Amino acid sequence: MFTFVSIQDYHLQLVHGRQTCVQAVTHYIREIQLQNHLNAFIETFKDEALARASELDAEIKEGKPLRKLHGVVIGIKDNICYKDHFISAGSNILRHFKSLYSATVIERILAEGAIIIGRQNCDEFAMGNRNENPVYGPVKNQLDNTRISGGSSGGSAVAVQASLCMASLGSDTGGSVRQPADHCGVIGFKPSYGMISRHGLIAYASSFDQIGIIANNIDDIEKIFHILSGEDGFDSTVLPNVRTDSAIETKPVKSTSKIAWLPETLHHTSLDPEIKTGLKNTLESLQKEGHLVEAVPFPLIDFIVPAYYILTTAEASSNLSRYDGVRYGYRKAMQTSDLFDFYAKNRSEGFGWEVKKRIMLGTFVLSAGYFDQYFKKAQQVRKLIIQLSEKIFQQYDFILLPTVPQVPDRIGTSGESSTSGYLSDIYTVFANLAGIPAISLPIYKHTSGMVFGIQAMSSQKNDIPLLRFSETLLKKH
Ligand code: GLN
Repeated sequence: MFTFVSIQDYHLQLVHGRQTCVQAVTHYIREIQLQNHLNAFIETFKDEALARASELDAEIKEGKPLRKLHGVVIGIKDNICYKDHFISAGSNILRHFKSLYSATVIERILAEGAIIIGRQNCDEFAMGNRNENPVYGPVKNQLDNTRISGGSSGGSAVAVQASLCMASLGSDTGGSVRQPADHCGVIGFKPSYGMISRHGLIAYASSFDQIGIIANNIDDIEKIFHILSGEDGFDSTVLPNVRTDSAIETKPVKSTSKIAWLPETLHHTSLDPEIKTGLKNTLESLQKEGHLVEAVPFPLIDFIVPAYYILTTAEASSNLSRYDGVRYGYRKAMQTSDLFDFYAKNRSEGFGWEVKKRIMLGTFVLSAGYFDQYFKKAQQVRKLIIQLSEKIFQQYDFILLPTVPQVPDRIGTSGESSTSGYLSDIYTVFANLAGIPAISLPIYKHTSGMVFGIQAMSSQKNDIPLLRFSETLLKKH
């Protein structure tokens, strides 16, 4: 019987010959089949994962030292390119498309001995927070199969929740790693913008997108983060000279921290009372332990979701213009009168409802006549948010807030034309607008039988202290 606790423990088992990589992969392949109803994986890479596991076992037998992620079984969201493997971003428009190259994160984990077990279900083009995918169907929450997993990296979170792999790589543009982690009772970490190369991540909104990690413990997240982070010639937005390795070794852990909480988030009408009480309890106990815990006004609360949706849809309308049926994937509409008709038919048939809505919204806010009213205004709001965040972090080490205002909804209960679901993003988009690191920590149980998390944020590039603080928060509970 294979059990996984942490990468460190697994590696001890490997070196002492108590487990093998082949046993690990065989176990996960069986679990994925047994829990197929959760719909977490779109495809598993069974044969090649097993072949790679034998090679990695052979290295151990030959006495070679373990690589940092030796035999670690990782699932990847269906928007991260893996050479010669299908990738669809959960969309019909890319359904039969194979990656021509691997994302930098894939190259890096493979070089350290990881095994990629398969690609995971997600919201189409990572747009959404429910993971009710129009092509592949909904991902089910393992705690209650009638409820959503959260999104957009829902398959990635459920895969960790249901022990279908050791860790997952997802992406977070406005909460897509943290929200499903909250709903599934696992840890979801979105690093600072620019800590991890986006090369090979299918773009949704490039100035927001970050690859994030979902796992069961902070130590594993830290190990994987260290491998993924760092400069990359393929992505000029990666921050130079941020050494996560030296930070890990030298940064002293502070025994007391300065923690801010934002009254406008805690008193927001959308917040479930039990989630509110949970956060309050955490704040109180931190205060009792000697941390400085103070309320800091956050007057921009009502502007963050609108600013986020204006800016991200604008970027999406531009990023998704490349899917025209000529160069990529879907080209079904052959009965067309001219080129415009050809594009229109392919895009109408290839994209799902939500994606089309966002392309239209984004095109509108960028159009002459509306640009100043919408796009420019939203950019100004983003600037104010960045300034506010910098001001807060001049005085405080961390901000604590909820991750999602409600416990996971029932599957099939959202109106597809509605925008009311966008409000679920109220606590997560702030970190992406400001480019700061944020993490959702599974801490509380809800009387509905579900779980929920607490979200911690820190200043830009302060990812390692945030992870260290998260560790202490988790240990308290
Ligand atoms: N729910 C948000 C959106 O739909 C965030 C998605 C994400 O982080 N990829 O835009």
